[in-house]
Amino acid sequence: MQLGDWQLTTVNGGMFRLDGGVMFGVVPKSLWHNVVRADPQNRVPFANHCVLARNGVHNVLIDTGYGGKYDALQRKFYDMEEGEPLIRSLAELQMPLDQIDTVLFSHLHFDHVGGATRLDAGGARRLTFPQARHVVGRIEWEDATREAIELKTAYALEDILPLRHAQLDLVEDGQQILPGLKAILTGGHTRGHLAFLFESGGQAAIYLADICPSTAHLRHMWCPAYDTHPLDSRRRKPQLLGQVADGRWWVLWNHDPRLAASRIRRHPQREFVACDGLPRLGGTTDTWLSDKRQSNPNHQRKFC
Ligand SMILES: [Zn+2]
Repeated sequence: MQLGDWQLTTVNGGMFRLDGGVMFGVVPKSLWHNVVRADPQNRVPFANHCVLARNGVHNVLIDTGYGGKYDALQRKFYDMEEGEPLIRSLAELQMPLDQIDTVLFSHLHFDHVGGATRLDAGGARRLTFPQARHVVGRIEWEDATREAIELKTAYALEDILPLRHAQLDLVEDGQQILPGLKAILTGGHTRGHLAFLFESGGQAAIYLADICPSTAHLRHMWCPAYDTHPLDSRRRKPQLLGQVADGRWWVLWNHDPRLAASRIRRHPQREFVACDGLPRLGGTTDTWLSDKRQSNPNHQRKFC
């Protein structure tokens, strides 16, 4: 997708499955099961659409997927892809790792920061993008590294602490990262969770990450149980989605298993619905999805 000066491309950070109950929080299964189908272990397929944004000067990667360091048992639990999906996807796009100059993190959960490090031959963790400026929200960094008991299971410190050796840039709400690209503090999913807004050529596109992980999460109450500040999510999400719908911004979906981007519009019963859906933004192929997804024929009709 070309958005003014920015060329936006989908990068596959690794498909996986997450427990449907956890992904829809207080919403009963009798409702969410009409929208997405769970497998026999109650898991629902989700994508990890990272975004490569290029403007001729900068090569920016948004989020890094879960990476390639998980053992067989962990991969089986989440039905993660083999190998290093992010690295494979960037290679398909002929994007050398050392030419990524900026890596943005919406937040520091495992499926967003895992790909930022790899294991070397001796088993030590090394930065995947050693040349890059690594951009994290200041609040997110503080929460992820302060080892509070209530957040301990939310953050894998072994994935996060190596970023101290990177060129680390802690940013605030509204801060411009590059011309035409800024961070927006959403909170909710985590206290320091960021969205990223591209504005160029009279158009806008927003990467919402986990404040609204998929088109099945457009209603204000449909939030993952992972959210550490759920009341903020319920308040902030409809505000943001209203702005997106009224401004005809593109949404760059992070975890939607079908769409990499779409617009959204207001809906009298369902709050918001997706429209103008794009399965991917140039580039990569999702073999996992075509092999394994269990589609619900009602999904398109209800949500697009
Ligand atoms: Zn996530």
